[in-house]
Amino acid sequence: MTATATRSWAERQRRCELDVYGKRGPTLVRGRGAVVWDDRDRAYIDCVGGQGSANVGHAHPRVAAAIKRQADRLISCPGMFYNDAKALYLEKLMAAAPPGLTRAFLCNSGAESVEAALKFARLATGRAKVIAAMRGFHGRTFGALSATHNPKYTADFAPLTPGFAHVRFNDVEALRAAVDGETAAVILEIVQGEGGVRPAEAAFLEATRALCDAHGALLIVDEVQTGFGRVGAMFACERFDVRPDILCLAKSIAGGAPMGATLVSDRVDVPVGKHGSTFGGNPLMCAAAAAALDVLTDEDLPERARLLGEGLIERLRAANLPVVREVRGLGLMIGLELRSRARPYLQALMDDGVLALPAGAVVLRLLPPLVITPEQIDRVYDALLKALAPLGAPTCSRQV
Ligand code: PMP
Repeated sequence: MTATATRSWAERQRRCELDVYGKRGPTLVRGRGAVVWDDRDRAYIDCVGGQGSANVGHAHPRVAAAIKRQADRLISCPGMFYNDAKALYLEKLMAAAPPGLTRAFLCNSGAESVEAALKFARLATGRAKVIAAMRGFHGRTFGALSATHNPKYTADFAPLTPGFAHVRFNDVEALRAAVDGETAAVILEIVQGEGGVRPAEAAFLEATRALCDAHGALLIVDEVQTGFGRVGAMFACERFDVRPDILCLAKSIAGGAPMGATLVSDRVDVPVGKHGSTFGGNPLMCAAAAAALDVLTDEDLPERARLLGEGLIERLRAANLPVVREVRGLGLMIGLELRSRARPYLQALMDDGVLALPAGAVVLRLLPPLVITPEQIDRVYDALLKALAPLGAPTCSRQV
């Protein structure tokens, strides 16, 4: 046997990868629904959910079949040509979109959908200023990074894009002071994800819409993490009845495959040549996204997320664990703010067969696939109780 063949996948990857994440241990090799398996065939309930990109579950048969079918037919088609898979998907997407949004630019990731939104807003208004929220996260490319607040992400990369300012999230007066006749756009998440799973207040969103209208600015809603059923409606702006001028989507848009979209109202028009993307809206991703959207609708996954999420949030609040400062969330986007760092608890959960992720240093976040079963939710709840209350009452631990 060669030396390479005797090395683990982890060792082999470590030698070659510029690792910008830091690894958690297991080598994941397959998945089904809400479960993933490592290379030793150990199963985990996956509440990382591809960082929120696996809403329809891992390897959903309809998504896999759509990708296979399209791969045999046409994988790439530049934006200068029409394409059947793209036309079909765009029709489906716009039929599912919140009211007022009429057209979409398709791209490949969340950051790209935000970049497009920022460029479109500057084009539409002829203005440069963008107001974003503290604790907001919009991506790692320069425009999206400039809208992102936390210095953890922005430090070392100056100069960022000029024209960006940040106000406290849910602070209407701060926003009122910041938005004026030079503002191109306000960009917000409706539930801040990386910033600690913090839902917006309805009054703040309402005031944001009114301020944008009063000053002729556009409202960009970043639903990269909250979109496609995650928070108990197809889109979070529907739960809050807020009407964006531009909506950013990605993560779960294509059943876990890489894709993004920037949806715009008729206030936005982009002349030919002002933006583009080689891979954006390629037929393979469009086929995956069309299948994923059908699954979300046919399996009523947004409603399932609402019911399962509400139940779990309620139970976690009722458990009153001393280490938990607050349980926040909407649908199956759940954050437990702890009184100490989340890392050791994430490790304990993983040792017990449940994968979860942090949202900042002290928030333990759950983003399970929305197809997670009630039994698997029970298992996650048991594991959380065990990990977070080591001295508490004994809990039953069923197998996946
Ligand atoms: N916006 C939000 C709200 C996000 O949560 C993320 C990713 N965590 C992004 C944008 C960036 O998405 P991507 O990693 O696909 O570029």
